[in-house]
Amino acid sequence: MKLQEHHARRLLAAQGLPVPSFRLATSPDEAADATAEFMSEGAERVVIKAQVLVGGRGKAGGVRLAGTLAEAREAAAAILGLSIKGIPVRRVLVAPAARIERELYLSAAIDRSARRVLVMASGEGGVEIEEVAATRPEAILRVHAHPHLGLLDFQARRLALGLGLPLDQQRAFVRIARGLVAAMLAYDADLVEINPLAVVEVSGADGTDGRRLELQCLDAKVTIDESALARQPEVEALRDLDEEDPTDRAAREEGINYIRLDGTIGCIVNGAGLAMTTMDLVKRAGGEPANFLDIGGGARADRVEAALRLILADRAVEAVLVNIFGGITRGDEVAHGLIAARKAQVRDVPMVVRIVGTNADEAHALLADANFITAASLDEAAARAVAAARQPARA
Ligand code: GDP
Ligand code: MN
Repeated sequence: MKLQEHHARRLLAAQGLPVPSFRLATSPDEAADATAEFMSEGAERVVIKAQVLVGGRGKAGGVRLAGTLAEAREAAAAILGLSIKGIPVRRVLVAPAARIERELYLSAAIDRSARRVLVMASGEGGVEIEEVAATRPEAILRVHAHPHLGLLDFQARRLALGLGLPLDQQRAFVRIARGLVAAMLAYDADLVEINPLAVVEVSGADGTDGRRLELQCLDAKVTIDESALARQPEVEALRDLDEEDPTDRAAREEGINYIRLDGTIGCIVNGAGLAMTTMDLVKRAGGEPANFLDIGGGARADRVEAALRLILADRAVEAVLVNIFGGITRGDEVAHGLIAARKAQVRDVPMVVRIVGTNADEAHALLADANFITAASLDEAAARAVAAARQPARA
């Protein structure tokens, strides 16, 4: 689950990371109010940032600086009128603009192959890190956190040295890097990314113009492991339903594990392993699966109906392959469920079914009567689904 930047900032601030203050605004007037407040506290300019769950907002015109109330109002109006990568901007974040000296990159992510948290840092922050990784991989420093002890002091210092930070910034960096890993574990995040982690110029607290440099988190991207949300109710409450893909949301609410793919053959399967096997067999038979879908244990009729609805909403789907392992669920019950589920749909495509388990023969007979294509083996089912998808389009 992705978090909005303002939520991510709050979580990181709560873990002690240096996150500058900010306010949210949903209208140009609110943005001007926030600007007036920050200016009364001494800010010369503010930064106004679109709050949407996609990266690259800067490039898309979603991050702007303003030096007057009128400019702030105008910038907020422009950003609130944008759609970034198809998502309309509903809110902006307003913060005192930092005077940036240098932009660093810092992140913590799960490295599955190493079974550890991987911390990455780069002196080339601000820009898209994927670009740096592709063109200059040596510009990204990497270190794995200890599974029990987190990121150790010396590991963080090594990163700081690698970035060429002076001593006072090294100390600050070590605290931030360790805090980042601690935040990751505290919230069950699978990614925490600060880009830019900026070296900013701040004026001395006593008003003297002694130039002082500080590290600040100017952007925050946090994604949370979906499987951990059950034990993270405060984080789950931050889910942005407005921005969730409607199909993903429907699937989640039905308890169906659904991932849309590019092919033409929809797959309804119970069990994740069986679902992956089914996809492999579709490919081997020369077809392309339109989705990964696991309706979970058993074959509850309501889930089958919901799954079929999700699949048929994808206009690329030309045939559906149902592979249900009945187990203790009776096959004839599953067949009745499928027949009813198909009748309840607004769109129809050829449906190939393979059921194994109790009363499978009866199930196949019922389905054949109802104009389903049945198959005795998985290979046969996959071949028939691929052949059915290749038929000329039906009305
Ligand atoms: P992203 O494009 O979605 O990653 O949004 P960011 O928040 O990272 O902002 C993009 C870029 O805008 C940063 O890399 C900075 O160069 C610039 N920027 C963001 N905040 C400030 C700020 O407070 N002051 C200044 N001068 N520039 C900023
Ligand atoms: Mn950024």
